[in-house]
Amino acid sequence: MVQISEVRGNSRDHRTAAHTHIKGLGLNSAGIAEKQAAGFVGQNSAREACGVVVDLIRAQKMAGRGVLLAGGPGTGKTALALAISQELGTKIPFCPITGSEIYSTEVKKTEVLMENFRRAIGLKVRETKDVYEGEVTELTPEEAENPLGGYGKTISTLLIGLKSARGQKKLRLDPSIYEAIQKERVTVGDVIYIETNTGACKRVGRSDAYATEFDLEAEEYVPIPKGEVHKKKEIVQDDIMSMMGQLMKPKMTEITDKLRGEINKVVSKYINQGVAELVPGVLFIDEAHMLDVECFTYLNKALESPISPIVVLASNRGVTTIRGADDLVAAHGIPPDFLSRLLIIPTHPYEPEEIKRIVRIRSTTEGVQLTDAAVDKIAEHGVRISLRYCLQLLAPASILARVNGRSQIDVQDVAECEDLFLDARRSAQVLSSESGRGFIS
Ligand code: ADP
Ligand code: ADP
Repeated sequence: MVQISEVRGNSRDHRTAAHTHIKGLGLNSAGIAEKQAAGFVGQNSAREACGVVVDLIRAQKMAGRGVLLAGGPGTGKTALALAISQELGTKIPFCPITGSEIYSTEVKKTEVLMENFRRAIGLKVRETKDVYEGEVTELTPEEAENPLGGYGKTISTLLIGLKSARGQKKLRLDPSIYEAIQKERVTVGDVIYIETNTGACKRVGRSDAYATEFDLEAEEYVPIPKGEVHKKKEIVQDDIMSMMGQLMKPKMTEITDKLRGEINKVVSKYINQGVAELVPGVLFIDEAHMLDVECFTYLNKALESPISPIVVLASNRGVTTIRGADDLVAAHGIPPDFLSRLLIIPTHPYEPEEIKRIVRIRSTTEGVQLTDAAVDKIAEHGVRISLRYCLQLLAPASILARVNGRSQIDVQDVAECEDLFLDARRSAQVLSSESGRGFIS
C-alpha cells in the first residue's frame, strides 16, 4: 500500500479569509445585480460589469485582454475579482498578489510574475479508478497483532461498513488507511470512497439520510452512491497540491526545480492523453501602479498565451508616473498601450446604509453578535476611515466584549478598540506630531 502524504494549501489563504462571505457576484439570470446577494451589497454597476466579463470569458473572447478595477481602497475590488473566479466555477484558482510583492532581492520580477501566472492556472485530471464507495454504517477500530513484533505489539486496524444503493460491504482496513480516515474526520453517516490501489480516502459529504439530524449549513449533503460498493469510478482531481503530494516523496517539502520539471512532464503527458485539462483561473494584482515598464511588457505578452489566466488589475491612483519610464505619467500609472487592452470598471465609495449591511454580513460570518448601536458606531468608522478598518474592528471588539462579560459587542467595546488600535491616518498623525516634539530623530 502506498502512503499518501498531504501537502497543505498555500500561504495566501489568509488573504482571502476577509472575503469568506463573498459567494459570487449576486446577479439574477438577466445579469442584473440584486441589492444584496451572494454576500455582496451595492456596487451594482461594477458587479454587472464583472458579470459581462464572466460572459466574455465563457465565450472565450477575453484572450489578450484584462480587467482594471479602479476605485478607492475598501471599495470591494478584491471581493469583485474573487467573485469573478467563483462565477467561473467551483475550484477555479484565485491568486491575489500585490504589485509591490514582485520586488524581491533574490528573484527576478518577471520570474515572480511567471510563478503567479502558473499558480492561477488549475489542473483537472480525470481518471477511472477502482474504489469502494458508500455511506459509512459502521466504524470499529480493532487491535491486531503487529506482524513485525517488537515493542508496541498491537496495531489498530479498522472495520468499516459501507452501504450503496445496490449493496453493502464490510472491509477491514490497514492502519495506514485508518489514519487517512481519521484525518478526513469520517463518522458514521458520511459518504466516502477509498481508492483500492493507493488506499487514499476521500470524504464526499454527509449522507442526506442524515440531513434532518444535524442541520448545519456548512454541511454538504450527498445522496447514497449508486451501484455496488466496489466499482470503477471516474474521479476528477483538481487539487494540484495533493496531486503534487502524490508525486513527491513523503516529507519532502521543498519544491525544487527538478521536481517541478518532473511534474511538468507528468502533466503534459496527461494533457496529451486527454486525461487532464488546464483550467485558467484569476490572477488579481492589487496596486497595479507598483508594476514597472518591464512587468507591463511581460504581462502584455503573457496575456496572448493560449492558457493565460484572467488578469484583473486594481488601482486606486489617478494620473501618476509609470515606474521605470523616466517621469512619464499616465492614467493609473499604466502605459497607454497596455491600458488599451483593459476593460476598466470603476468602483465607488459606499453609502452609510450599505456599510451597515456589510458589517452585519461580516459579523454573521465571523460569528460575533453586536447591538444595533455598535453596528452604527462601527459603520461610522467605515464612512470616515475605510471599510477595511471598520471590518477589522469586529474581531478585537468581540474579544473585548467577552473580557468585559458581554455576549454582544456594545458601543463601549468599539470605543475601547479605537483607543487601542489606530487607523492609518491617525497613526501617521501621531507620528508626525511626536516627531514635531522631537520624539523621533
Ligand atoms: P479593495 O480591494 O477595493 O481595497 P476589498 O475588496 O478588500 O476592497 O474590501 C474590503 C472588505 O470589505 C473585504 O472584506 C470585502 O470582502 C468587503 N466588501 C467590500 N465590498 C463589499 C460589498 N459590496 N459587499 C460585501 N462586502 C464587501
Ligand atoms: P522603540 O522600538 O520604540 O525605539 P524600544 O521598544 O526598543 O523602543 O524601547 C527601548 C527600551 O526601553 C527597551 O529596552 C524596552 O524594553 C524599554 N521600554 C520601552 N518602553 C517601555 C515600557 N513602557 N515599559 C518598560 N520598558 C520599556
